[in-house]
Amino acid sequence: MTQLSNDCFAFGGGLLAVEDGIRRISERVEPVATTETASLFQADGRVLAEDVVAPIDLPPWDNAAVDGYAVRHADLAEAGATVLPVEGRDVAGEAMSKPLAAGTSRRIFTGARLPAGADTIFMQEDVETLGSQVRLPPGLRRGANTRQRGEDVPSGTVALPQGRRVRPQDIALAAALGLTQLAVRRRLRVAIFSTGNELATPGHILGPGQIFDSNRFLLASLVVRAGATPTDLGILPDDPAATAQALNAAASDHDLLLTSGGVSTGEEDHVKAAIESVGRLVFWRLAIKPGRPVAMGVVNGIPFAGLPGNPVATFITFVHVVRPLIARLAGEIWDPPIAFPVRSGFAYRKKSGRREYVRVRLGRMADGALEAQKHAQEGAGILSSLTATHGLVEVPEAVTAVAAGDVVSFLSYGALI
Ligand code: AMP
Ligand code: MG
Repeated sequence: MTQLSNDCFAFGGGLLAVEDGIRRISERVEPVATTETASLFQADGRVLAEDVVAPIDLPPWDNAAVDGYAVRHADLAEAGATVLPVEGRDVAGEAMSKPLAAGTSRRIFTGARLPAGADTIFMQEDVETLGSQVRLPPGLRRGANTRQRGEDVPSGTVALPQGRRVRPQDIALAAALGLTQLAVRRRLRVAIFSTGNELATPGHILGPGQIFDSNRFLLASLVVRAGATPTDLGILPDDPAATAQALNAAASDHDLLLTSGGVSTGEEDHVKAAIESVGRLVFWRLAIKPGRPVAMGVVNGIPFAGLPGNPVATFITFVHVVRPLIARLAGEIWDPPIAFPVRSGFAYRKKSGRREYVRVRLGRMADGALEAQKHAQEGAGILSSLTATHGLVEVPEAVTAVAAGDVVSFLSYGALI
């Protein structure tokens, strides 16, 4: 991977809008170059290293979309019903049968090749059978109930673009085109540390003044959902030398270093000092709440993100900063999550100039509308505010007040992670 310069994340100070942060990342960071192949069963969540160009037409030949009777449209009466003899029977999985003679119809089943000459299919529910004949109602358009060769994906066109993070439906399309494997970028390796003398790993006994570490587990799971491979590197003590040494070592075999905690300005916040001894650190005063400054840096050419310690702030800054950074490093096309309009069930005030995220539950009201209810506890340390809610209402920079009944933008956790 290209080595980053130490000051690549620097900027002129002041509040940084989230979009500007993401743009800064994509301008300065290059995707991993190594590619590998993934079988279709292993391809979910991987990033395509190349365009997938359709090697065949999909479907490969004209065929029936329904069970019914194939005809030549030119044989149908202009007004009133048409009665035609039924000659032959075409089923799925057979070679093309004999051409459809003018003035006849053919029994045909879904997926069967359309015989030469046939261009229209009546659904069996719409016709009346009269012995060896069939009575066809008027008004069916030419081409009805047929599927044309190449109508889904024509041969030679891009079926899936480079940079697509592969989803089950993308895998289905690749399979339908007859492919067995896909060229993908290698998975990113992401090193995860927690920082703080107060932290104990679950499974150990809590010492006096200790709490269990939750952020490492939060971040490892978020990293997996982002398609990367986390390495759990444990808890760093509040000690700059130990932190510097651990980050330096991790930089040798990871693509991204993540820490949480230790990046506020308190004197016990040692991550800043540690990074500055091995690289350069800048604070992005991101214009979002929750989410105190995010520390961005470079350690031996490898990007470093130091997230705030409070779990809700860790989560919010991960989804808004680290997730797009992972996308860029992974070579993934970054599609920002789409917010949906819902009705606010709460009133809210804020300062202009920063974007705020309100943790909410959605409920269907008596009038059928979806309404967002704000979680009662707003603290950035309240983990249950994340577990008890469906997602975030995004209150944009320019807005200073939301009233109950207003339309607001809802981002579900499903779209974010
Ligand atoms: P800090 O930024 O290190 O001062 O941390 C802010 C708050 O988040 C403190 O209350 C920490 O105890 C808490 N915190 C930091 N790291 C973690 C973690 N890994 N798991 C749970 N809480 C944490
Ligand atoms: Mg700390």
